[in-house]
Amino acid sequence: MSVKSRSTPSSSTRTESTGRTARSKPAPDSASGTAARRLEPGLYLVATPIGNLGDITLRALETLRRADAIACEDSRVTAKLLAAHGIATPLILYHEHNAPRARPKILARIAAGEAVALVSDAGTPLVSDPGYKLVTAAVAQGLAVHALPGPCAALAALMLSGLPSDRFLFLGFLPVKATARRRVLAEVAGLRATLIVYESARRLPATLGDMAETLGPRHGAVARELTKLHEELRRGTLDALAADYRAAGPPKGEVVIVVAPPAEDAAALSADALDAALQAALARGTLRDAVQEVARTTGRPRHEVYARALALARGSGE
Ligand code: SAM
Repeated sequence: MSVKSRSTPSSSTRTESTGRTARSKPAPDSASGTAARRLEPGLYLVATPIGNLGDITLRALETLRRADAIACEDSRVTAKLLAAHGIATPLILYHEHNAPRARPKILARIAAGEAVALVSDAGTPLVSDPGYKLVTAAVAQGLAVHALPGPCAALAALMLSGLPSDRFLFLGFLPVKATARRRVLAEVAGLRATLIVYESARRLPATLGDMAETLGPRHGAVARELTKLHEELRRGTLDALAADYRAAGPPKGEVVIVVAPPAEDAAALSADALDAALQAALARGTLRDAVQEVARTTGRPRHEVYARALALARGSGE
């Protein structure tokens, strides 16, 4: 990933990401800038609220005001946000259905000297939302890209969960089909990291049930309607959370599931379980592949898995 200055480049600076000389237009360097001042050409990735309209930074507002256009998923949603802040910048649509057609047009506008802001319906663009391919293409074309960080449901849920925040893995949305969902969960079961999952409220009871079965006894938290009027945090074991939501039925609103890392003792696979995993993997492929797969799925140190795999392959198995 290319690196660029964390602050928006000022007039006539050489941007690290592009190596090009940027045009002489004032940068969004203060919240008091006027709408008349234009932005440096580029793609501006702007985080927007996930519920509370007040959760938007001064820099985000100024950028949205001064951009030549705002690319958004749903013009009704973004128009509401802009109206709340008195912003009249024209909107263009960029969503999963029109992205292949809209992307070259947005890139052409930026290449021609315009500043285009990208927002999603809520939160941080690219986080389970459109934008990744646009950024990749902009980077490939040497166009300037700026991030304006802000709300993200995954991080808000992690902050409130009370679960370890030093190491976490964001899984986005899990597959809708139970078999595929359990497969993904099994892949990450051995990781010593807090897991963060986006889920529809409708599937919450089933997904919590699959988590309890696949990940074993662990604590978790369900964060619902974050930053909104009916914000709610429920904490408990995965089993208990699954049982509660099964009994009460799916809740209303938007939810994030946060799952604690495996407890020290639970993470330590018994020798038998490790052997079983290795034997299954050895039956499918080479020793090298088996070690790689089992080390990844169990989170056990590679040298340990390798030593055990060698013993099994030699038939000593003691
Ligand atoms: N880009 C967004 C972000 O930065 O969080 C996420 C967009 S994704 C399409 C929508 C999912 O995010 C929802 O299904 C839910 O899992 C989660 N989400 C968004 N807003 C939320 C909120 N206020 N409370 C709880 N979960 C939320």
